[in-house]
Amino acid sequence: MTILNIPPLVADKISPHAKELLKKVEAFIEEECEPANQLLEAQMPTNPRERFLNTYPAIIDTLKAKAKKLGLWNLFLSNVHYREGVALTNLEYALIAEMLGRCHIASEAMNCSAPDTGNMETLAKYGNEAQKARWLAPLLSGEVRSAFVMTERYVASSDAKNINLSIRREGNEYVLNGTKWWSSGAGDPRCKIYLVMGKTDPNHKDPYKQQSVVLVPHDTPGVTVVRALSVFGYDDAPHGHCELSFKNVRVPAENILLGEGRGFEIIQGRLGPGRIHHCMRSIGVASAALDLLILRTNDPARATFGKVLSQHGTILEWVAKSRIEIDAGRLLVLNAADKIDRSDAKGAMKDISMAKIYVPSMALGVIDRAIQAHGAAGICQDFPLARMWAQMRTLRIADGPDEVHMNQLGRIESRRFKEL
Ligand SMILES: Cc1cc2nc3c(=O)[nH]c(=O)nc-3n(C[C@H](O)[C@H](O)[C@H](O)COP(=O)(O)OP(=O)(O)OC[C@H]3O[C@@H](n4cnc5c(N)ncnc54)[C@H](O)[C@@H]3O)c2cc1C
Repeated sequence: MTILNIPPLVADKISPHAKELLKKVEAFIEEECEPANQLLEAQMPTNPRERFLNTYPAIIDTLKAKAKKLGLWNLFLSNVHYREGVALTNLEYALIAEMLGRCHIASEAMNCSAPDTGNMETLAKYGNEAQKARWLAPLLSGEVRSAFVMTERYVASSDAKNINLSIRREGNEYVLNGTKWWSSGAGDPRCKIYLVMGKTDPNHKDPYKQQSVVLVPHDTPGVTVVRALSVFGYDDAPHGHCELSFKNVRVPAENILLGEGRGFEIIQGRLGPGRIHHCMRSIGVASAALDLLILRTNDPARATFGKVLSQHGTILEWVAKSRIEIDAGRLLVLNAADKIDRSDAKGAMKDISMAKIYVPSMALGVIDRAIQAHGAAGICQDFPLARMWAQMRTLRIADGPDEVHMNQLGRIESRRFKEL
């Protein structure tokens, strides 16, 4: 099946180099990632206690080696931030990420998976030379993985001003105390570095200057991975979304990123591209769900009341609605990516918000229709739809809940009253 489909509206902006890469990515997903996907669970232990911190499926290393050899590596790094990366624009990467979204293992195979992508961009943008050499280099080569550690269990974390893990300066060290949760990736044995946000100056009169981000190696004494949280019953092993405890954790003062009080600057710079990457992949997830819906409802063996399902008007309406919604979401995502290319993530804030609000809900609607069209098969492990729905549902909360983005977008739009 050909999944490569460049919308005519943007076709002129896609370089021959990017078109070539798109073809290679498509072939790699079909020939290598799809078959490997079947092996992923088979290579993981079934005992829940053994599924984190000392194991991951061996097939991942095989795939990564192949992807690297083919030059399908770190494609997310736009030429804006990392000059040695492949010179793709965000718009070009959006089309690649869409394909990655269609296959569970593809992003990681090409070193393009969250949260590492956001963390690598953060280190590239805000790290000093020593921090880049110590942590960015092994992340870029895919030797290690990372976690972004911000959300806290006991405060409403959608307002980042509430984050209050203590980061206290003592001589040439910072001392960290507090609890974090939903640290994605911290369950993986390859996760060696945490980017931890906390308060260095809780009494600063500007609440946006109280926060800082420090680099904490995973094996620093006092750091404990308490447990992994489940997503609608899925454990997402070996990646995991973990609760972490920090008890008198000491790191050298040079582990601070950018400087004290610069935490908000960092999360704002980090979350813009990360949010749009999720949206790009979600378009691929929704497209894959629509393909499954079409395949199932055209299967003559699944006919009801004398007709294959696709001849029933309700089903045709689901297909039509899904097509319209995916294409509308796609244009929102491509537009936001293009805006980032023309200015930066800050300049594209409104467009990123629109995509972040619309796309996950849209994709959930498409997946839900596909589940319904499969009947009971849609909600069990025999099809990928249940897992797709569970993962997609988290995106209405992760990286800031819908309502926060809705408020922000509403405020930006409302300010136009002065021009009306
Ligand atoms: C799968 C997954 C992975 C995650 N990965 C990470 C990670 O790697 N690192 C990390 O630090 N965090 C991570 N998170 C956490 C995520 O970023 C937070 O859950 C999110 O920011 C919301 O914070 P909260 O859960 O404390 O919700 P709260 O802040 O308690 O908000 C609860 C609800 O209140 C409502 N609300 C909040 N503000 C407003 C408003 N202004 N207007 C109207 N309603 C509002 C919304 O409905 C919101 O859902 C992850 C979460 C999930 C589900």
